[in-house]
Amino acid sequence: MAESRDYDVIIVGAGFAGMYMLHRLCNLGLTVRALEAGDDVGGTWYWNRYPGARCDVPSMEYSYSFSPELEQEWTWTEVMAAQPEILAYANHVADRFDLRRDIQFNTRVSSVYYGDDKQWTISTDTGHRFHTRYCIMATGCLSMPNTPDVEGAGDFGGPVYHTGQWPHKGVDFSDTSVGIIGTGSSGVQAIPVIAEQAKHLTVFQRTPNYTMPADNKPMTAEFIEKVKADYASIRQQQRESEFGIIGYGFGFGGNTRTPPTALIMDTTEDERHAAVLEHGFGAIHQYVDVGLNLEANELACGMYRKHIDQIIEDPQTAEGLMPRGYPIGCKRPVIDTQYYEAYNRDNVTLVDLRRGGIERITAKGIQTQQGDYEFDALIYATGFDAMTGALLNMDIRGRDGVTLSDYWEAGPRTYLGLQVHGFPNLFTITGPGSPSVRSNMMTSIEQHVDWIADCITYMDSHQLRAIEATERAEKDWIKHVYETAQGSMLTAPSCNSWYLGANIPGKPRIFMPYIGGLGNYRKQCDDIAENDYTGFNLTA
Ligand SMILES: Cc1cc2nc3c(=O)[nH]c(=O)nc-3n(C[C@H](O)[C@H](O)[C@H](O)COP(=O)(O)OP(=O)(O)OC[C@H]3O[C@@H](n4cnc5c(N)ncnc54)[C@H](O)[C@@H]3O)c2cc1C
Repeated sequence: MAESRDYDVIIVGAGFAGMYMLHRLCNLGLTVRALEAGDDVGGTWYWNRYPGARCDVPSMEYSYSFSPELEQEWTWTEVMAAQPEILAYANHVADRFDLRRDIQFNTRVSSVYYGDDKQWTISTDTGHRFHTRYCIMATGCLSMPNTPDVEGAGDFGGPVYHTGQWPHKGVDFSDTSVGIIGTGSSGVQAIPVIAEQAKHLTVFQRTPNYTMPADNKPMTAEFIEKVKADYASIRQQQRESEFGIIGYGFGFGGNTRTPPTALIMDTTEDERHAAVLEHGFGAIHQYVDVGLNLEANELACGMYRKHIDQIIEDPQTAEGLMPRGYPIGCKRPVIDTQYYEAYNRDNVTLVDLRRGGIERITAKGIQTQQGDYEFDALIYATGFDAMTGALLNMDIRGRDGVTLSDYWEAGPRTYLGLQVHGFPNLFTITGPGSPSVRSNMMTSIEQHVDWIADCITYMDSHQLRAIEATERAEKDWIKHVYETAQGSMLTAPSCNSWYLGANIPGKPRIFMPYIGGLGNYRKQCDDIAENDYTGFNLTA
């Protein structure tokens, strides 16, 4: 065991959150170290290198706003950049701000204990120990890959991949038959690309998704120039917006699209059919009531299924791809590129597991209740233990030795998604109870990082040593998060999303993100800080 080292702040994780946090705190003159399990920066974009991985928020908006120079010198090539470009951006930021100097890579934090000396002791799988006043979790909302517990999983004879832990040197699937489990965001992105390469692709689908075409394209020089000139105003609008996205120049988030006013409940079946023929899946966006009541929503789902029927040539495959029994808008929007079209290829087979589930994985493939399927390589596109997975994967113990896993046994409890009562001086960037995954994460990350950096500055300038969310404030906040989500499609009884933890067996069914709007949330956080940190106990 190496001897322990003292820091003002330890940051866990070097994705976009950890990187910016490090930059801010180093500029404050604090001693800071970031610990990262991977061997380089980028987090999500370092790990998720699967074919087709890309952003589903326009890159001009899914990028840092803290440095006007950075904004001007970096040029995105596509509206929604692919993973290699986003990772290159992360590397550029690390170089430009000389971040790697203060990051220890290949280091996974295993335990985080609060001691009688009012310091955190952090231990790693490399045998290092760190003592720190503040511990900041930048461990990511979608960083703990989920692999379902399927009987015989270890029996498969060929290579096995998880989209969230993709090999760095890539995988060549030509002349290979591939089985892929999962049709969430990652599966939907990967399937069309792998289908083009593989000899055959068999898709095992438990729940079909409502996915919308990305309409991605290269950006013109004129458009880039215009955005760069307008960045200050774009960023301000993002910060004040509901989701941290304004859809600048594209019209789907804010400034050019007129908000819908029509009621789907007032339409006839013929009108809905005609709308689908004319606008495809986008037809659904023109109705205001789809997100408001389940009956209206079901009409929109019908339109959605109609369009699948129009695209997919084989009727059984079309039926298999049709989502049923849960509302549109209950899960994180999935954005695709030629997803449905992939199923019209001769080399793609859909196995709709609603017709008979997986029984076991065998040496040669997957045995289901509908029959056996053989392939050479297996891919899990089965997502993540979202929002709490990475945090609970560490042994975190707060005051009086209380473990975070015990404290969160019935679901995550936080104040603002930033702190947990009983865990002083520990912050969670984009923690559960904050807008996080219900927003453009870059906007949310920057907001949290700035708030935390300002908070530490305040603490130091007032000679304060510890800040801790009060139990009362935490309770009130959780109630508010819960109440805000009620009545929306996100918490409909028929909705089973990872927002609710429903993809992980045994995980408490709690809606984790805050959906009160990012701009509104920012204002609440700012007001709390301006009022000397209402709801927090500050001690010398
Ligand atoms: C495939 C995919 C596509 C996405 N697309 C979008 C998008 O279009 N728009 C959007 O807003 N968001 C998107 N997201 C969400 C994305 O996670 C965030 O946008 C953002 O990258 C999160 O940054 P982060 O730094 O908070 O977390 P991460 O990028 O997840 O980084 C966390 C880091 O912490 C490290 N870590 C975790 N636990 C430990 C530990 N115990 N010890 C040491 N290190 C640890 C991990 O290795 C990781 O590098 C996507 C996520 C995925 C998986």
